[in-house]
Amino acid sequence: MTPLLLHACCGPCSLEPVRALMDEGYEPTICWTNPNIAPVEEHDKRLGVLLDWAERVAHLPVIIAGDDRAAWEREAAPYGFDRADRCRACYALRLEEACRVAAEQGFEYISTTLAVSPYQLFETCSEELVRLAGKYGLTPVVRDFRPLYPEATRESRELGMYRQNYCGCRFSAAEAQVERQIARDARKAAKAMGHVG
Ligand code: SF4
Repeated sequence: MTPLLLHACCGPCSLEPVRALMDEGYEPTICWTNPNIAPVEEHDKRLGVLLDWAERVAHLPVIIAGDDRAAWEREAAPYGFDRADRCRACYALRLEEACRVAAEQGFEYISTTLAVSPYQLFETCSEELVRLAGKYGLTPVVRDFRPLYPEATRESRELGMYRQNYCGCRFSAAEAQVERQIARDARKAAKAMGHVG
């Protein structure tokens, strides 16, 4: 097995990437660094779910790396609702910390569970992973885990894991709320049309 440091954004998103990487012969160590998650209670809840799963189910080591919330406010928050630039800055901050830890601890390979979620900007995230791995002399393991997302959803429900309904930052919480309202309005409108028809 080949040691690999796996940046994990949360427990549910870790299930399938861990399985897929182990199938490929990697031996993942989980790395938590997610200063994007707000509020702090939500951050701690997601970390707790990940730690519990890693210990009781996956039996994987977890490194809790830096969670520099002030840096997130400085580097990502100023982009506000400009999602493309905000998420790039957010990926960069988290992946840089994961790469720093990987280099410090002697890992050669680095990957991220962010690549399982269809809600993430996959290309942007992959670009940042490649760029930062290069900066730290690491080999990026870029995989498109998104086809595994439905299975991750099913499995995490079965395990009774807490599943958040927004990505993590306060902007994403507001965006998700708007999206849910738009979907509700569309359903209501479709229903009303049906009655009229
Ligand atoms: S939506 Fe997610 S990836 Fe993008 S900035 Fe917010 S927490 Fe980071």
